[in-house]
Amino acid sequence: MSVRIGQGVDIHRLVPDRKLILGGVEIPWEKGLLGHSDADVVCHALSNALLGAIGEGDIGRHFPDSDPRYKGASSIALLRVVMDFVKARGFRVGNADLTILAEKPKLGPYREAMQQQLAAVLEVDPRDVNIKATTGEKLGFVGREEGMMAEAVVLLEALS
Ligand code: MG
Repeated sequence: MSVRIGQGVDIHRLVPDRKLILGGVEIPWEKGLLGHSDADVVCHALSNALLGAIGEGDIGRHFPDSDPRYKGASSIALLRVVMDFVKARGFRVGNADLTILAEKPKLGPYREAMQQQLAAVLEVDPRDVNIKATTGEKLGFVGREEGMMAEAVVLLEALS
């Protein structure tokens, strides 16, 4: 079987008066991530991993933040567009493994909802989308609650 791997990383700044959207799920919190789109770091890291696996660069290339069409864009919708590229190239997702680096809030209660959202877009079983979360141990920009980061690894399998 022909397989391809991809990895992606994303970082966004945390600021007041923004919604916190992670993995397509709105999480009640006093701050949210700043960006041209909804700044969903999880969807961005995952989209970059998928694009990497098919050798299609990164989301900055496909959805430039200088383009007003993507202002306030839902990143789960962008992930759907990326999945269309993946399918057009003749691949399906085997599994995805994600790590979210965030000091606060506790993400455990939202993990299943994120898994469901992402699995629906990736067209896999929720068990094939693993989501891990870790704090920054009060160190660095994550630990100081200045931002969040996400990392993603995906495996693609050829459809034929
Ligand atoms: Mg981003």
